[in-house]
Amino acid sequence: MRTPLLAANWKMHKTVPEAVAFVTAFAPRVAAVTDADIVLAPPFTTLGAVADACRDTRIAVAGQNLHWAPEGAFTGEISPGMLAGAGASHVILGHSERRQLFGEDDALVARKTRAAIDAGLTPIVCVGETLDQREAGKTPAVLARQIDGSLAGVTPAELAALVVAYEPVWAIGTGRTATPDQAQDAHAHIRRCLAGLGGADAADACRLLYGGSVKPANAEAIAGQADVDGALVGGASLDPASFAEIVAAARRAAG
Ligand code: PEP
Repeated sequence: MRTPLLAANWKMHKTVPEAVAFVTAFAPRVAAVTDADIVLAPPFTTLGAVADACRDTRIAVAGQNLHWAPEGAFTGEISPGMLAGAGASHVILGHSERRQLFGEDDALVARKTRAAIDAGLTPIVCVGETLDQREAGKTPAVLARQIDGSLAGVTPAELAALVVAYEPVWAIGTGRTATPDQAQDAHAHIRRCLAGLGGADAADACRLLYGGSVKPANAEAIAGQADVDGALVGGASLDPASFAEIVAAARRAAG
């Protein structure tokens, strides 16, 4: 049985006081939650403060990106060890905004995935097709290529422990959500790809999140799909009440 996971991707939002105020408002709303895992991915500048604020809770903290090297002359970059040292246990990798706006490809994501695992961080590896690719019937091939490329070199045990987020690019920040059936089809396909990579047991254990305009109103139907194990949430995770409602919806779907 896979434990639901709800992850908040704050992108480039919130100052330190805003981020701490979020945790102050959000943590009591989920204090009784023991049947789902919750992860907040704040900007680097707020990560330490958010980790401190989450210390006596079950809420985990993630980076939104990392550099693969342990240290060095990489101006503006953050290493896996720095993230872990600041209190992160997870890291989002290969988000479509990184792929589209910053030129990240599958080989780079694979390198970052290896570095994250070696530093003891749980990667949340994002994949997803564009609207053009979906309309051209290329979704299965695109997802297979991204899975094989982004997770190249991962062992079955590592695969079982990491998280994959299916985020159709056309649904991110657009208000346009995949239907529950579209999400399930893509997730089932991703799980088959994972089985090809690391075997059926690892694929079965790996948690697959849906991301793309998840809101309190649509979270339960999407999270209720057999191969959907939670959500990666952008816009609707910025408000504590909204994200807490999404957590509650996913728990209802799982229960
Ligand atoms: C995201 O950026 O990962 C995301 C899913 O954003 P939104 O929920 O705003 O579509």
